[in-house]
Formats: sequence, structure tokens, C-alpha cells
Amino acid sequence: MPDFDSDLKSFSEIQLPKSIQNMPRCEWCDKPLPKRHVTHVNLQQDPPEHKFCSRLCKEKWCANAGKKK
Ligand SMILES: [Zn+2]
Repeated sequence: MPDFDSDLKSFSEIQLPKSIQNMPRCEWCDKPLPKRHVTHVNLQQDPPEHKFCSRLCKEKWCANAGKKK
């Protein structure tokens, strides 16, 4: 038997460094957030706070948020 399982395992264990994982990202375009970013708070949503890199991304996200379901 080739050692296929362990290959798969090591592949799935590759993870991004914590600093990158925890970096907040724009919820629309997935870019890392700049220092000056845009937030959208809607307490009726979970999570209530959404972050975007620009006002344009927030507007696009808002325009599509209601269409997802
Ligand atoms: Zn963005």
C-alpha cells in the first residue's frame, strides 16, 4: 500500500500562521482590512458586526445580503 493517508493528513494540517488567520478581512472581497475600514453593525444578525475594506464593498455586501437565501 502506498503511504497515501499520511500524505493527505500532512496536507490537511498545513495552516496559515496565526497572525494571518486572525487578520480581519473584508467580508465582501476578502482582502485584509486597512487601518481605516468600514463597519456595518446590525444587532439582529450574528455576528452583529461586519467589516469591509471600503464603503463600496459594504454597499455591495448590503445589496447582496438579502439575496443569499
Ligand atoms: Zn473589500
